[in-house]
Amino acid sequence: MLRCDVCGNEYDKMLVILQGDRRMTFDSFECAIEAMAPRCAQCGCRVIGHGIEAQDQIYCCAHCAQQAGASGVRDRAA
Ligand SMILES: [Zn+2]
Ligand SMILES: [Zn+2]
Repeated sequence: MLRCDVCGNEYDKMLVILQGDRRMTFDSFECAIEAMAPRCAQCGCRVIGHGIEAQDQIYCCAHCAQQAGASGVRDRAA
C-alpha cells in the first residue's frame, strides 16, 4: 500500500499528483496542499487557487502583488 509523502499514513484511496517530473502520493488534499501548494511571496499564506503570477513570483491576491511592487494587477474589474 502507498504511503502519504507528508504524514506517512497508509490509505487505500491515495491521491497521486504529478507536477512536471515530480510524482507524489498523499492520503488527503490537506497533505497535498502542504507539500505542493506555493506560498504567497508577500504574506506567506498558501496559494491554493490560481493566485497571481507577477515578477516571477506567485501571490495570493492582487493586493499582495501590488504591495510587492507589481503593477497592472487587480482583483476586480473597474
Ligand atoms: Zn498525509
Ligand atoms: Zn498574499
